[in-house]
Amino acid sequence: MTEVLVLGFGVAGASAAITAHDAGARVTVLEKMPYGGGNCLNSGGFLVDVDGPHAVDHLDALCFGKTPHDVLEAFADGLHEIPAWLESLGGAVRTVDFPKSWPNFPGEVTYRQFVGDPPGPALFDLLRENVERRGIEVRYESTVDDLPLEDGPVILASGGFEYDAQLRDTYLSLPLTAVGHPGNTGDTIRLAQRAGAALWHMSAFFGWFAFEHPDHVAAFPLDVHAPSFIYVDGDGRRFADETGWEVHDKLRCLTTYLPRRRNRPRMPGWIVFDERARLAGPLNGIVGTPNDYTWSADNSVELEAGWIRRIEDVDAPELDRTLREYGATPDEFGRDPRTIVALEPPLYAIPMRPGVATASGGPRRDAQARVLRPDGTPIPNLYAAGAAGSIWGHLTEHGGGLTDAIVFGRIAGETVSKQKTGHT
Ligand SMILES: Cc1cc2nc3c(=O)[nH]c(=O)nc-3n(C[C@H](O)[C@H](O)[C@H](O)COP(=O)(O)OP(=O)(O)OC[C@H]3O[C@@H](n4cnc5c(N)ncnc54)[C@H](O)[C@@H]3O)c2cc1C
Repeated sequence: MTEVLVLGFGVAGASAAITAHDAGARVTVLEKMPYGGGNCLNSGGFLVDVDGPHAVDHLDALCFGKTPHDVLEAFADGLHEIPAWLESLGGAVRTVDFPKSWPNFPGEVTYRQFVGDPPGPALFDLLRENVERRGIEVRYESTVDDLPLEDGPVILASGGFEYDAQLRDTYLSLPLTAVGHPGNTGDTIRLAQRAGAALWHMSAFFGWFAFEHPDHVAAFPLDVHAPSFIYVDGDGRRFADETGWEVHDKLRCLTTYLPRRRNRPRMPGWIVFDERARLAGPLNGIVGTPNDYTWSADNSVELEAGWIRRIEDVDAPELDRTLREYGATPDEFGRDPRTIVALEPPLYAIPMRPGVATASGGPRRDAQARVLRPDGTPIPNLYAAGAAGSIWGHLTEHGGGLTDAIVFGRIAGETVSKQKTGHT
């Protein structure tokens, strides 16, 4: 019997473990945190499917040609199987009628969401229950210093490097803070490199503007639920079309500054908003956070605590001028006039920094989830799935993270179970 070691108990690790077990392998999962789930616990449980003759073209356009076509074909094939696979485990998905994230790219895109309350944690609960029902051993607070590849197959399902400040600064284009799962400290990168792996997609990531507080491990992603808001930088200058960016791609607005207009975005900046926006809903909560904190529905607790400031208490020399000039047509940054609403006092501001939710980079894998050396040959016994070297080469689809973890977790589980050797 093949003995398989899975590193990481998020969606990728759980999908790999279930699949390898069901194909006859004996599986052990090591999770370095005291609990499983990874970023699925913070996720919205959204799942993408891309169909039709241009499915791979769609994925290729998002990856900017940085992911081989056979890998994207394997991914697209696996996407179609996700609903039936989750149903076979006892779960369900529903179709959601979202506007397309990338409407101008080819391919037929369907968005789904796992059915559960809340959907992300419920998805992981389903996978965890299936792992437990099969008697698959999961060792928490466990990891390895080196990959024991001589003993048999190892599946890297150990996530990205959001929580390693040095790796973030080395590979990602912006000075970022982390908003997601604190277990993702870049072990995948170090272990894979030591085993001789090539890396890919190291500069790709997605995230949001976020509020950082020293008492909380992760920064809080911020969303404003009414149009009466603007972004300004540390000096109080606007620097972007606040409503014109795809939700995962928002932070790229920081890289499109117009240097001749003296608007280099100095962070931390501020989200400035009015009373209607304050009352329209909690600034944090659309996506989850590992922080043990529930944001107040009308933002009053955070205002009282000083996390949200009254505009008079914000020291930003250009802010008065910015507020006077906001609303002129045409908008300096091309903001859609339908979203330009007068900011009516009292005004508030919350400090914001760019926050990374998922770093795509990691070991390069092929269509069978085998980890490759720089010369393109597979490293014997080493596999990777999900955020441990994601397939997304530049942009990402809505629902692209969990699906990468499920599809390549399943592919890795199938591939390893065909091997004859194993850990003892
Ligand atoms: C706020 C937020 C919302 C999101 N919403 C969505 C969404 O709706 N849809 C979607 O598709 N994607 C979403 N994503 C992205 C998605 O959650 C991730 O892409 C996905 O969960 C990755 O799964 P994974 O199993 O590959 O890795 P992870 O979930 O990152 O899990 C990796 C696991 O490995 C463990 N680990 C790390 N190092 C080691 C080690 N050395 N040894 C053992 N274990 C280790 C970690 O503790 C962790 O448990 C969201 C992300 C965030 C942060």
